[in-house]
Amino acid sequence: MSADARHRSIALLGSTGSVGVSTLALVERFPERFRAVSLAAGRNVELLAEQVQRHQPELVSVADESCAAELRARAPGYAGRIIAGADGPRAVATYAGADIVLSALVGALGLEPTLAAIEAGKDVALANKEVLVVAGALVTRAARERGVRILPVDSEHNAIFQALHGHDRTEVRRLILTASGGPFLRHTVAELDHVTRADALKHPTWKMGPKITIDSATLMNKGLEVIEAHWLFDVEPDRIDVVIHPQSIIHSMVEYIDGSVLSQMAVPDMTIPIGYALAYPQRLPLTHLRTLDLPAAGELTFVAPDLERFPCLGLAYRALRAGGTMPAVLNAANEVAVERFLAEDIGYRDVPAVVAAVMDAHAAAPAADLATLLAADRWARERARTLRPGAERGARMAPLAPSMKKAAVAP
Ligand code: MG
Repeated sequence: MSADARHRSIALLGSTGSVGVSTLALVERFPERFRAVSLAAGRNVELLAEQVQRHQPELVSVADESCAAELRARAPGYAGRIIAGADGPRAVATYAGADIVLSALVGALGLEPTLAAIEAGKDVALANKEVLVVAGALVTRAARERGVRILPVDSEHNAIFQALHGHDRTEVRRLILTASGGPFLRHTVAELDHVTRADALKHPTWKMGPKITIDSATLMNKGLEVIEAHWLFDVEPDRIDVVIHPQSIIHSMVEYIDGSVLSQMAVPDMTIPIGYALAYPQRLPLTHLRTLDLPAAGELTFVAPDLERFPCLGLAYRALRAGGTMPAVLNAANEVAVERFLAEDIGYRDVPAVVAAVMDAHAAAPAADLATLLAADRWARERARTLRPGAERGARMAPLAPSMKKAAVAP
């Protein structure tokens, strides 16, 4: 640990992704508070080389040997260690010089290194929601046992975390996650049939990587966030609601037993939740950001999600209620379905159909250990890859989650 309790040495998993880039910008802005000591990236060596030269981390990991060679060529003066291959993210996450790990890899890939960081006693600022979706029980148990904090970076969970601060958790009635609704909020089912990859990649309020942008369009992202919220805040699925709020000003809410609803509002900028997680329990003076101009924002609107047009949300509730290995199966099938959609191998509405078909074929088993979860993940990927495009269209859609019926919040 650093001598100054406010100074944090950060291990950054996913340094070249959207959250990674925002994190390093924050590190540069507050050099007296943060230092990036280890970075894990994949194949974006050009950007990584720039990051390495600016931040001079002590350890860096890349996808493979050819990326490592390219990094050496692009950052000739770099004196730190470079690790190539699958063991890299774990080495970065457990690096002895790091106090806190910012976990921002995409998908289930981040699970093993994040769990390793927790087992090594490091606090985790978690952007990679799949870690909790796939292995929430294992990860939260490990965190409790090691006495480490999991600080949510996901904007909705960060909002809830802020709205819970200083309050008695036993007085919480429900959590209300807001969703932008994505680019297809007003599309009919028929229109959704003709949605293209380019349409789905246009997110109205947030700029993010392609996987999460597609998940936002299908509302699977919100479904994964319901599962994430369940594990982060220990709240049952019936008490986690979703409301569509297209302006993305209210980032989420907590309703207490007296009917009071506390929300966190801000301009949609990931710098805020990243900064709150990294500096917690303090706040950073983010004076360079645009402030929230409510008259300019105009109306804030809210609408209940339509599970017929957004079946992925219902599938996520179904997976959470089934428990055990089912959320891992949901997530893995979705990752493959989204990859296939991005490759223009399947249509937009095939995404939920593929996920539903894989879930239908899976009998949930207890999430006994990581090996069981990873086996379920592999099985689901295999299955999702082999499903024929279009054949699953019209597969049974998930039943309406009962809590959805009361999800609308009056403005
Ligand atoms: Mg989010």
